[in-house]
Amino acid sequence: LLSVRDLRKSYGDRVVLEGIDLDVEPGEVVCLIGASGSGKSTLLRCLNLLEQTDDGTITFEGSEITDPRTDERAVRRRMGMVFQAYNLFPHLTVLQNCVLAPRFAHRRSRREAEARARDLLGRFGLGDFADVHPDRLSGGQQQRAAVVRALCTSPSLLLLDEVTAALDPELVGEVLGILRELAAEGTTMVLATHEMSFARDVATRVVFLDAGRVCEEGPPSQVLGAPLQERTRAFLARVL
Ligand code: ATP
Ligand code: MG
Repeated sequence: LLSVRDLRKSYGDRVVLEGIDLDVEPGEVVCLIGASGSGKSTLLRCLNLLEQTDDGTITFEGSEITDPRTDERAVRRRMGMVFQAYNLFPHLTVLQNCVLAPRFAHRRSRREAEARARDLLGRFGLGDFADVHPDRLSGGQQQRAAVVRALCTSPSLLLLDEVTAALDPELVGEVLGILRELAAEGTTMVLATHEMSFARDVATRVVFLDAGRVCEEGPPSQVLGAPLQERTRAFLARVL
């Protein structure tokens, strides 16, 4: 589904990604872990072309999207992205947030877009909040709504950047819960997370980034349970 080769990215003379290789197959849940500043967010932003890359290639659904002739908006229509916070437009209701992209980027009818959004909101316990504004929702509900909004366009890949990091601890579980459900349904996801227990339970693969490189990757039982690299061990000793 996604294939990254020798991806490089610098901000000025600061090298942030130093030759990333990454493959994602349909149905995989890939957790990116690593210290603050290791490049997780930058990598996710490069994947959906929010950042321009300096070198290397990204192939998505068979097309090289790092090709300068790529229609970036067409790529983003096929990838959903959820950020740490401030995902929803405050002046629109939850339902209006959810139908925006389906209606105006995917040209679905209002009826079709609203039906899908209400269906998904209902499934994730937000049926009663469709017609209110986001400020009436708890932080956890807002993030669940943000995930639902990303799903409304039926993306083939969902990118999530620390979607629970801004939440109070008691709200983290409800957001991870819907990611678990999506994973169980086979939704393909790449997510940056500090939630090691989530990575251990749900990831099909854990990728440890260290200073802009993939230091170690493999099944969670290996990377988190029996890491081969000294740097992975040192990182885990700090966070576990
Ligand atoms: P965290 O766990 O704190 O979210 P991260 O792994 O997501 O960290 P990035 O946000 O990708 O790390 O940042 C990697 C490096 O790139 C950092 O040193 C950061 O300061 C730098 N960086 C990120 N965005 C920019 C930017 N727009 N301009 C300049 N430097 C940036
Ligand atoms: Mg980050």
